[in-house]
Amino acid sequence: MSVEKVEALIVGGGQAGLAMSEHLGKCGVPHLVLERHRIAERWRSERWDSLVANGPAWHDRFPGMEFPDVDPDAFVAKEKVADYFVAYADMISAPIRCGVEVKSVRRNADGPGFRVETSDGVIEASYIVSATGAFQHPVIPAIVPEGVVATQMHSSAYRNPDQLSEGAVLVVGAGSSGTQIADELLRVGRRVYLSVGPHDRPPRSYRGRDFVWWLGVLNKWDAEAMPGSEHTTIAVSGAHGGQTVDFRRLAAQGMMLLGRAETFKDGVMHFAPDLASNIAQGDANYLSVLDEADAYIARNGLDLPQEPAARKIDPDPQCVTDPILALDLVSAGITTIIWATGFSVDYSWLKVDAFDENGAPKHQRGISAEPGVYFLGLPWQTRRGSSFIWGVWYDAKYLADHIAKQRNYLAYSSSRQRETENA
Ligand SMILES: Cc1cc2nc3c(=O)[nH]c(=O)nc-3n(C[C@H](O)[C@H](O)[C@H](O)COP(=O)(O)OP(=O)(O)OC[C@H]3O[C@@H](n4cnc5c(N)ncnc54)[C@H](O)[C@@H]3O)c2cc1C
Repeated sequence: MSVEKVEALIVGGGQAGLAMSEHLGKCGVPHLVLERHRIAERWRSERWDSLVANGPAWHDRFPGMEFPDVDPDAFVAKEKVADYFVAYADMISAPIRCGVEVKSVRRNADGPGFRVETSDGVIEASYIVSATGAFQHPVIPAIVPEGVVATQMHSSAYRNPDQLSEGAVLVVGAGSSGTQIADELLRVGRRVYLSVGPHDRPPRSYRGRDFVWWLGVLNKWDAEAMPGSEHTTIAVSGAHGGQTVDFRRLAAQGMMLLGRAETFKDGVMHFAPDLASNIAQGDANYLSVLDEADAYIARNGLDLPQEPAARKIDPDPQCVTDPILALDLVSAGITTIIWATGFSVDYSWLKVDAFDENGAPKHQRGISAEPGVYFLGLPWQTRRGSSFIWGVWYDAKYLADHIAKQRNYLAYSSSRQRETENA
């Protein structure tokens, strides 16, 4: 069987794979991108219908191309985000092969580099870049057994309200996905329960600037270490032109807020008594951004309009002051549970020594513990922005530079070697 040889193989044709292709191309490194479906497939078909980007068009893009025919301050619909990456691949002439899945990557037993088994044959590569995304496998905590309600699904399987059977909906998880889906269901008249865990909820905008701008100038996108030891979900939304996620407003519109979902027994779901503190923590995060923004404006003498109304926080609604701690799901009329509880990674195809005992990549800024293997698009890979559209582009540049440097070392030969070769 013939074996194709490439120098660098990028696995995954989402934004990370394309950014890597662009930078490897600029560094003159021959490479190939393999994508099992289509370019930016997750944006195209693996998210709910009404999803728009969480950041405005001027920000959630690569430096080399703007969104065509879009107001830079608008939040672009997911289809257009996918179209953008297809156009981008075209612009950089990315050497990408779609419809080819990488089944396994192993270090060559009898030579340098890696042997890659794909759905379309075998490839040998000197460098492997895993750009398969941080949001791969839906995670559903084992709390409610099957059959208790008609449907349990992960947020990644939700498409639109028409897909759900009649009845109330319990959404578990109040990050960006959970709050947007719960809001969408409330707007079409569903009875909605939302389980709210610890979260950050930055203002959508303040004093005339979107929060992505504030995170930029306050140097938070580039923060290298996660504040605190635990990942805290962030509740932001670009839906309906972009609004601050405000749980009190949702409660005033009829949404029933609950604490963190904990256990289920005899038809009853139990929630932690942490709703008020989770809401208070979200408020503190919100107000801290306003404080830092005000200080930045004062320090830099910027002329941005005052916005005192942003500091007005309404009293806690009754569902927060007197929270439901136990809910009989059937009596409450709940027919669907949507778990907006995040994702895990899947590197089962990457059979090299680059993972810790929990299966997490061992790496430094994406350069893995296994020489020649690289990771891209990981949350906090180098900074807060690493798993987002704009951030991955800079991480890809760093990795491409590293590969180019490695190639230069390998190309080195001493003057004595050269004399011998030329003799
Ligand atoms: C609901 C949601 C909304 C988001 N909204 C935003 C936003 O508004 N702005 C923002 O900046 N970020 C957003 N993100 C975060 C991030 O930008 C996206 O998750 C983005 O899709 C990540 O791009 P990626 O290229 O790293 O991975 P992915 O988009 O997951 O791309 C990986 C690709 O690899 C392919 N693949 C996987 N395994 C293999 C294999 N073995 N062989 C071949 N191909 C393979 C997949 O088919 C996929 O196309 C959002 C994330 C989620 C979950």
